[in-house]
Amino acid sequence: MKIQFAKIILVLLLLTSFTAFSQSSPEVISGDVLSEDSEINNTSHPCISIEQYRILESRINTNAGSIHSSGSKERISTVALEWPLRAAGGFTDCGYYAISAHVDQNTTAGVYSDYNCGSITYDGHKGTDIKIWPFAFHKMDSDQVEVIAAAAGTLIDKDDGNFDRNCTSNSLPANYAIIQHTDGSVALYWHMKSGSVTTKAIGQSISVGEYLGVVGSSGSSSGPHLHFEVWSGNTNTTYKDPFAGTCNSLNANSWWALQKPYTEPSVLKASVHITDAVMPGCPTTETLNESTSYTIPFQGPGLAPGYAKFYMFLRNATAGMTADVRILNPGGSTFNSWTYTSPGNAVSNYVAWSKLLPTIAGTYTFEATYNGITCSQEFEILTSAAILENADPGLFTLSPNPATDFISVQGPGIGIGKNKFSLINTIGQLVFAEEIISTNTNQITISVSSLPRGLYFLRIDTESSVIIKKFVKE
Ligand SMILES: [Zn+2]
Repeated sequence: MKIQFAKIILVLLLLTSFTAFSQSSPEVISGDVLSEDSEINNTSHPCISIEQYRILESRINTNAGSIHSSGSKERISTVALEWPLRAAGGFTDCGYYAISAHVDQNTTAGVYSDYNCGSITYDGHKGTDIKIWPFAFHKMDSDQVEVIAAAAGTLIDKDDGNFDRNCTSNSLPANYAIIQHTDGSVALYWHMKSGSVTTKAIGQSISVGEYLGVVGSSGSSSGPHLHFEVWSGNTNTTYKDPFAGTCNSLNANSWWALQKPYTEPSVLKASVHITDAVMPGCPTTETLNESTSYTIPFQGPGLAPGYAKFYMFLRNATAGMTADVRILNPGGSTFNSWTYTSPGNAVSNYVAWSKLLPTIAGTYTFEATYNGITCSQEFEILTSAAILENADPGLFTLSPNPATDFISVQGPGIGIGKNKFSLINTIGQLVFAEEIISTNTNQITISVSSLPRGLYFLRIDTESSVIIKKFVKE
């Protein structure tokens, strides 16, 4: 009984603090998730099991026999690998991938190291895991990231039609393609989406950059990613690490035509959302709630009136590295700007801010610069016909704007006689109304100190007209 009572108090406290927090801080930062899906597979979740390697090698040897392969000979020449992924047509984000695990260079059980002597790997991993990010299942569902051949060769094995929304380690079969290059080396493309694998037949040739499938989560996989593995021969014991580096004991030279840096800190996506994006976790498709068009007055679900959610998705966030974030006016001047400093390292993470939208119609830009690279997203502000600012600047002035404690209204527009002053928020709610019989002072002061921050409209009903002017409460 006591415990239940304590639980109820705790829940009440949590609810109270959450409510107070969300009301008093409309510009709250949320979702600074430092380890968001940073591990796709791990030691207890290998991408390819020993049993699966055994079956694979048997299939490859059968296929290779009929395709006059070079057998188990070690390769002599060097194939230069291109990047094995590409964004599909129409993709508008600034990037789509992050490397979540390299080849494990330390053969001692229980200990691991990547080619750069770092820890972006897991024990016994023989390939490179490239995750797609952010919104991995949304990307998978809409075929946004394609697996392409890193080098030309012959398709020596493939499988398709297997379950592709796996979230854990098990013995489920993967959708995959395996290509043998002219030098006898082999590349494995693993975990692809069901129904997406190339329709070419085993034995047909594949050109570099040719479509092989869509990134998925088939086989032993805890989220959509490509497991890319290279062998110098026909068996998994000949695996190599395409990345050259101090701790690569498998091969001295890089297999890449152009090896990417160990980390690539950058903004993969900067975007504007009507409310929080919903990221339920594997295997549920995310709900982006993203929009590039906002009609003022705007009310986002759960947000303060006039506010939207601005997201920045990072790859290889680096402790102490600062992002410059800004909203630019149609002319390029700054509407709002702020900075964010990464508190730690993360393969992939995001930060979201609630910020006041502009209220003047036009095309604005939300952008973030991280590690010297800028990612931009344009969005439209439209004004609704329902509440249109119609105040002739000559009729009255409203100051200060933005206001914190009071607004002062003055000018000849406030005619002598009966005037009604109303404050309306962006969802049309009346938050203040007072009828004042003006004398000849042509000035009134209205307290706004108790209003939540946001955009408001001051409406003045004079005896002959209605005039409306907007202001911001800070
Ligand atoms: Zn892997």
